[in-house]
Amino acid sequence: MTVPAADDPTGELRAFLDRSPSPWHVCAAASAILDDAGFARLDERQPWPSDAGVAYVVRGGALIAWRIGATRDAAIRVVGAHTDSPGLRVKPRPDTGRAGWAQLGVEIYGGVLLNSWLDRDLGVAGRVVRPGGDEQLVDVRRPVARVPQLAIHLDRDVNERGLVLDRQAHLTPVWASSSMSFDSWIAERAGIDRAAWWELCLYDVQPAAVLGADDSLLASGRLDNQVSCWAATAALASSGPADQTQLIALFDHEEVGSASTTGAAGPFLETVIERLVGPDRDALHRCMAASSCVSADNAHAVHPNYPERHDAGHAPMVNHGPAIKLNANQRYATSADTAALFERACDDAGVPSQVFVSANNVPCGSTIGPLTATRLGIATVDVGVPQLSMHSARELCGVRDPGWLRRALTVYLAAT
Ligand code: ZN
Repeated sequence: MTVPAADDPTGELRAFLDRSPSPWHVCAAASAILDDAGFARLDERQPWPSDAGVAYVVRGGALIAWRIGATRDAAIRVVGAHTDSPGLRVKPRPDTGRAGWAQLGVEIYGGVLLNSWLDRDLGVAGRVVRPGGDEQLVDVRRPVARVPQLAIHLDRDVNERGLVLDRQAHLTPVWASSSMSFDSWIAERAGIDRAAWWELCLYDVQPAAVLGADDSLLASGRLDNQVSCWAATAALASSGPADQTQLIALFDHEEVGSASTTGAAGPFLETVIERLVGPDRDALHRCMAASSCVSADNAHAVHPNYPERHDAGHAPMVNHGPAIKLNANQRYATSADTAALFERACDDAGVPSQVFVSANNVPCGSTIGPLTATRLGIATVDVGVPQLSMHSARELCGVRDPGWLRRALTVYLAAT
């Protein structure tokens, strides 16, 4: 990993993106930032020391970190984000192939823009578990697989008809031209005798890059939502003590509905808050009522080739600041008062902000904000960095918005 120059505004973020090809690697990259800032790593299975004021826990592909405030139970400022991104996952029995090719069986995770995965040089990363149950991260950061597109000579009218991909037949990568055994290959790469089980993502090995004649854009895989994971982690690591408790929650499984032990619809955040506040239920409910949450997840920037897909008055532009996302039908949890809360944080941080409301003839997406709000009853605002090509293998955002989001979150977490 290259060390970012001090005058490089996206250097830290690009390093974070490049070392985070899977949700488990996001947690490792965030842990490294928190470790450097003096946060203690705690184990959910153990009692927590009463003086664990600046600490974090990791559960699978999710992470929660906090800095306890001076008035411990008074209120919590929460920033939420998600660690997972749509993509191709290696199946448990992946060895397959046709017509003499060695191929990998993959499962499609989340709402993938399928065409964007064609003809990319793919590495493999995630976690492997040994027969005894020990797990470890593995990242094979070199091109080992590819989903080759059918040549136009064999698909003459593809440009007129549009590309139609069968999710089972046409997304199977080639990874050798001779017979291969994936489990022995990955065990060797992980330096272990045998990999009994795994959760492994394919990913584009091309590193994050600054793009544009004016160097104003940032291209990378997984900008949704690792930009927010980085901004939240960096904000918490650098913010000072405050009256209220500051907390970030990086959830897994947002792209597949959040219903899991590590997703925003699961109990992870609730159990951590309960342990931090203590057994007094009345104190817990008073704390929740006084708390707030910024749910950070990337927004759709207006697309120059499809501007009609946005409402012209609510169409975010890259490098114009984080967007506050509203939806009267509660696909976003933002209310007028929580929008004002985040806008104040942006103003105080000297950061511009903008507003996103979807066009009435385009269905609105959703995110973790409404789930946290519904589960915990904490007042929530949905915000996000505007980007193009959401859910592509390689997405595009502005170079200024991620740093602005980080600054706004720092002010929000530390504000009194
Ligand atoms: Zn997202």
